[in-house]
Amino acid sequence: MSFDLTYTDRQKAFRAEVRAWMAENVPGQRLPSLDTAEGFAQHRAWERRLHAGGWSMVTWPRDYGGRGCDLIEWLIFEEEYYRAEAPLRVSQNGIFLLGPTLMEFGTPEQKARFLPPMANGDEIWAQAWSEPNAGSDMAAIRARAVREGDHYVVSGQKIWSSRAVFADWCFGIFRTDPASRRHKGLSFLLIPLSAKGVTVRPIEQLDGDPGFAEIFFDDVKVPVGNRLGAEGQGWSIAMATAGFERGLMLRSPARFQKTAERLVALYKSRADRATPEAKAAVLRAWQETEAYCLNTYYTASRLMSGAAIGPEASCNKIFWSEMDRRMHRAAMALMGAFAELEEGTPEAIDDGRWLDGYMFSLAGPIYAGTNEIQRNIIAERCLGLPRS
Ligand SMILES: Cc1cc2nc3c(=O)[nH]c(=O)nc-3n(C[C@H](O)[C@H](O)[C@H](O)COP(=O)(O)OP(=O)(O)OC[C@H]3O[C@@H](n4cnc5c(N)ncnc54)[C@H](O)[C@@H]3O)c2cc1C
Repeated sequence: MSFDLTYTDRQKAFRAEVRAWMAENVPGQRLPSLDTAEGFAQHRAWERRLHAGGWSMVTWPRDYGGRGCDLIEWLIFEEEYYRAEAPLRVSQNGIFLLGPTLMEFGTPEQKARFLPPMANGDEIWAQAWSEPNAGSDMAAIRARAVREGDHYVVSGQKIWSSRAVFADWCFGIFRTDPASRRHKGLSFLLIPLSAKGVTVRPIEQLDGDPGFAEIFFDDVKVPVGNRLGAEGQGWSIAMATAGFERGLMLRSPARFQKTAERLVALYKSRADRATPEAKAAVLRAWQETEAYCLNTYYTASRLMSGAAIGPEASCNKIFWSEMDRRMHRAAMALMGAFAELEEGTPEAIDDGRWLDGYMFSLAGPIYAGTNEIQRNIIAERCLGLPRS
């Protein structure tokens, strides 16, 4: 298929419009971490501002608060977003993962109920997939939802739910057929975290911030209308959501290109102390981010001509997560002893952002499905190798 890298006049005008809006609206100071109550509130306020400007989710249809942009425009938007160093998206579980899932599987009532407050930051969503014994092996899910008339009674536990302590709703899959095994008999439910019987208990990260939570469901009444798709269809809907996460939406190239750009600047500022290995690592980072960008433009062009993302989304996930970890390692090596200085320390380079980024990059090969599992998927479903 043809793959044209020239921007049209319309795309150039769109870029200029995004750039101008970001220049006027991006907060002058970095917001506190979205894993803290104060940071979460400030990021929610930023979501509202983005929405008021019409930039909350550019690819969504206008009826739901979007701008109806195609995927190339979305990539341009993301480039300008990261170029302007705009805040991280606290709404990402909703707008990038549940939003597209709702558009594919939701009823008109569900779309009308859930999409607008998701787009404007009024309702922020947590992802409730993992359980203590069902992380990589999601088919081992035990949390139950027993149907009683027009509602389900939900009981069980979820874990590692990012920012659930501050979020408003969660989505997850629950066993609605008690006699079922593995990926059968699961249903996809949308549950308010304020519902009676829900307890959200924070889990501190290494830095002490309550970035994760356990969610306990103790006979929580959930209306049947909060089920997405048919009863028992939860697994296939969840796999579609995971595909959005691993494929295109969660990690646009711009995020990594910005990191590579900062790495080049860091190298230049410390070039007199840099080793040949450091120089090679910086070059590699730049090459890889450019390659990832080209590959993403190619995928976007394919999708716009009617192709669908399949198991190859797993290659994407492995690539960005390992690239991000390598880039941050290279930065840590360049900074030497300064690498350990945290945000707020006067001598910290770039106000400790590299250390923050490095710690988060270590999680990349774990969240959105571990890289070992992605390799299994590639082996079995892309290459047709036998199951281990
Ligand atoms: C930053 C971060 C944010 C997260 N946010 C969320 C969230 O919002 N919501 C949520 O539900 N979860 C979230 N998680 C949890 C994450 O999805 C799980 O940690 C992940 O799926 C792995 O599950 P586990 O921790 O139970 O590890 P396990 O499944 O116990 O795996 C342990 C190790 O064994 C390997 N392994 C397991 N099975 C196999 C196999 N068959 N073949 C080869 N290797 C295997 C794994 O790859 C891993 O290295 C988050 C995790 C992180 C780090």
